[in-house]
Amino acid sequence: MSRWRWLLADQVGPHFLDDDAQRVLLVETRSLFAHRRLHRQKAHLILSTLRHRAAELGDRARLVRADTFREALAGLGEPVEVVHPASRAALAFARTVDGLTVLPPRGFVTDRADFAAWADRRRGQLRMADFYRYALNRHDLLRDLPVPARRPRRRPPTDVPPPPAIVEDDIDAQVRRDLDRWEAEGIRFVGRDAPRRHPATHAEARARLTHFLDHRLPAYADTDCLLVDGDGRLASSVLSSSFNLGLLDPAPAIRAAERAGRDGTAPPAAVHRFVRGLFGWREFLWQLYWYFAPRFRGVGWLAATRPLPDWFDRLDADAVEARCLADVLAGVRDTGWASQTARLTVLGNYGLQRGWRPADLADWFQRSFVDGADWVMNATVIGMSQYADLARIDTHPWAFDGAHVDRISDYCGGCRYEPAVALGDDACPYTAGFDTFLHRNRERLSADPRLAAALAERTDPQRRDAVLAQEEKRGDEAP
Ligand SMILES: Cc1cc2nc3c(=O)[nH]c(=O)nc-3n(C[C@H](O)[C@H](O)[C@H](O)COP(=O)(O)OP(=O)(O)OC[C@H]3O[C@@H](n4cnc5c(N)ncnc54)[C@H](O)[C@@H]3O)c2cc1C
Ligand code: SF4
Repeated sequence: MSRWRWLLADQVGPHFLDDDAQRVLLVETRSLFAHRRLHRQKAHLILSTLRHRAAELGDRARLVRADTFREALAGLGEPVEVVHPASRAALAFARTVDGLTVLPPRGFVTDRADFAAWADRRRGQLRMADFYRYALNRHDLLRDLPVPARRPRRRPPTDVPPPPAIVEDDIDAQVRRDLDRWEAEGIRFVGRDAPRRHPATHAEARARLTHFLDHRLPAYADTDCLLVDGDGRLASSVLSSSFNLGLLDPAPAIRAAERAGRDGTAPPAAVHRFVRGLFGWREFLWQLYWYFAPRFRGVGWLAATRPLPDWFDRLDADAVEARCLADVLAGVRDTGWASQTARLTVLGNYGLQRGWRPADLADWFQRSFVDGADWVMNATVIGMSQYADLARIDTHPWAFDGAHVDRISDYCGGCRYEPAVALGDDACPYTAGFDTFLHRNRERLSADPRLAAALAERTDPQRRDAVLAQEEKRGDEAP
């Protein structure tokens, strides 16, 4: 008989098992939820996923509720194996448990040793585009699908059908009762509870992927990098939690997108953008997390030492008047999710401008998003969004003013602030914040041509002092 396979909560898809008879251990530890203030819907998704998997596997599975993982493993009294965990902390723990064998990672396409060999050969920054080109070749992907010569015109989506709805069941009802009880007993969450929006089973996730490939992928490239008030997802797949929970295996999803491009169901531009995210960025971030040891969390050289304000930490969108931030923050509060553009341009950008501590922001992203995972935080939040990784990856400070938000969104028309104004009652907090960011970091920005040019345009010392004073006064108040 095969050994017990311990499936972690982010290893619940079929590709984490070897055969149909394998015995499975699943562990629920309430203490994990007590340590950090998670989004309520994230907590729901984790428990729902574990319990649905246990129900699917029936007699083969043992779902143990214990105070700690160590206690659950000791209680089994037999040798156990686990697929390589997705975080350093979980891996370090697994290596301390007697009788627990750690297997190679699954749920990613590229190989650790292969990435390390590629990265060791490079000089200077590791560039996602270089890695992507290398990995496409190595895995023989998108070979005969021509790269579009020009970026497609971006426009708000028309007639993009929403993903199939999720129907909650008795397991979800029990999860909700348990979380209500835990809350009453003192465990704290952020965000609003709501009917479950994100897949908790492989079948739900697969249905969403199929629907995305058939109906949403064709519009994907057109709407990428746009922000539309009240429609945070546009044509994107909203499958990041399904990939990160291990419900979906990325390899067949990438091949299916490639097929959609070949048979003409989706335009090549859309397929290339989707695969670039799922195969390019996702694999690159995963590999970087393990390649750079120790992790580079919080290594910053921009002036960024302020804690997150309470309204942001609590996802209090009602306190915010700035229309873009209010809508995106409300989306996080209500769904535990936001698009890449919203995360970078609205959320991360605001923190960068205000000098919030990168490590705090990474912690916030990880707790508040259903797809939040430790391995993603290094490069996306610390590196790309907050430029606090000593430029180890190819990025630059993603600081933008309100005019940029206005160009890519429909928010500014209905906002009480003016995107072009940095001073006075109508001053857009992003435009004034951009100026403040430039002045605060003036000595550190000379290497970035875009920001150095923006700084060079802001020479009037009186105006600079007035903007700085205005934003100092705004302080940590919600804008
Ligand atoms: C500040 C910041 C924080 C982020 N935090 C997370 C996070 O905690 N977890 C997370 O999975 N992604 C994170 N991302 C990346 C990205 O925003 C999400 O993966 C994406 O919004 C998911 O939406 P989707 O499923 O509709 O993706 P789609 O655009 O439909 O792409 C398909 C899949 O590709 C992968 N993918 C696409 N783009 C990226 C990317 N840039 N990085 C990594 N994977 C990508 C995801 O698995 C995604 O589900 C973050 C980005 C930023 C800028
Ligand atoms: S004016 Fe400024 S705060 Fe208002 S929506 Fe536009 S960018 Fe956001």
